[in-house]
Amino acid sequence: MNSIIKLPGFEDVTITKMEEVEEVEERLRIHFELPCTVHTCPRCSCPTVKVHDYRIQKIKHLKVFERHTVLFYRRRRYACACGKRFSEENPLVERYQRLSIELNQALNIRSVKGKTFKETAEVYETSPSTVVRRFDQLAEATLNQEGKELPKVIAIDEYKGDTNAGKYQLIIADGITREPIDILRNRYKNTLKDYLRKYGSQVEVVVMDMSQSFKAAVQQSLGKPVIVADRFHFVRYIYWALDGVRRRVQSMWHDYDRKKCKKMRHVFYKKSSALTDQDLWHLERYLGMSEELKKAYELKETFCEWFEQAKERGEEQILATRNDLYDFYDAVDEAGIPEFQRAAQTLKNWQNEILNSFRYAYSNGFLEGINNLTKVMKRNAFGFRSFPRFRAKILLTHKYKKIGTHIG
Ligand SMILES: [Zn+2]
Repeated sequence: MNSIIKLPGFEDVTITKMEEVEEVEERLRIHFELPCTVHTCPRCSCPTVKVHDYRIQKIKHLKVFERHTVLFYRRRRYACACGKRFSEENPLVERYQRLSIELNQALNIRSVKGKTFKETAEVYETSPSTVVRRFDQLAEATLNQEGKELPKVIAIDEYKGDTNAGKYQLIIADGITREPIDILRNRYKNTLKDYLRKYGSQVEVVVMDMSQSFKAAVQQSLGKPVIVADRFHFVRYIYWALDGVRRRVQSMWHDYDRKKCKKMRHVFYKKSSALTDQDLWHLERYLGMSEELKKAYELKETFCEWFEQAKERGEEQILATRNDLYDFYDAVDEAGIPEFQRAAQTLKNWQNEILNSFRYAYSNGFLEGINNLTKVMKRNAFGFRSFPRFRAKILLTHKYKKIGTHIG
């Protein structure tokens, strides 16, 4: 059969026979050889067309027409006048491989993107340990951080990975491209410090949440980095303070109002412009019941106004932003609400970093996406208790995000 059907990947070969055999699953056998062409001797560089012999090589391939496919390649060897014998070049399989190039590529991608190693092994009729080995090789080849310097802007965040290396891991990403760069086995200060000392000589800006130990690690390992507090993280302190006041105040109310207020708590956090009439009715009712809660709410509103304005003002009016922040501290002192005084103290401790977030528009919010991916992986019980494999899974999945799963 001189192939009437053109199979992708087989354009340059001569298919001599295609047969279906009944085995565990339907299986297609494709026999092929390559046309005889002039080859250059690898030893003396002379051209030759002299055929030495043929060997049949059995190669596993991607599914063709939904059937598991095995290739029977009649591999030709050439002989040169100098005495050298060598195999012809071919587009389908690399030397010493039992899987075709395409199958190898698909297996690599699937070893990363597949739900489990076991499932991938079933799809490609191979053993889970083969898939694991592929995965580990790929990780070794692509993720070796050795000798690679970190970029100028990095974002760091912790998340719960629960691997055998510890409960929390630390993720480091490029603050500009948002590509994850590495995952550290734990969130200890020294782990981060050692890592930054090794790879951080180019780092100028670090975006982080408000962790004292990260800050100390960054300051002790890098020259004079600009630390940027992630906006979402510092705004949260104000919301937590308001929430604390609400809970404390409502606990002194009668059952009905206490439960209703808890149920309607979203009215305190919504943007005031987004409140419905009903929201507004509840808000006014509860604020009317406690002078302290009312003050707390007003402080939150003041802070949110400051925040929105600070974003608009940007770097150029950073002094005005700072002065308004001082005014906010004064308002907090005047109100004398302990939850807000604690929150304001945290803001003071991080004041430079907070102001930096309006001078540089970087955030680490995108790391949430990586966090979510991790949760999905854990749900799929991927067997990623091993830290190195867990790290590789996250980083490789991101690298392969744009590549579709190639299912043979
Ligand atoms: Zn030769």
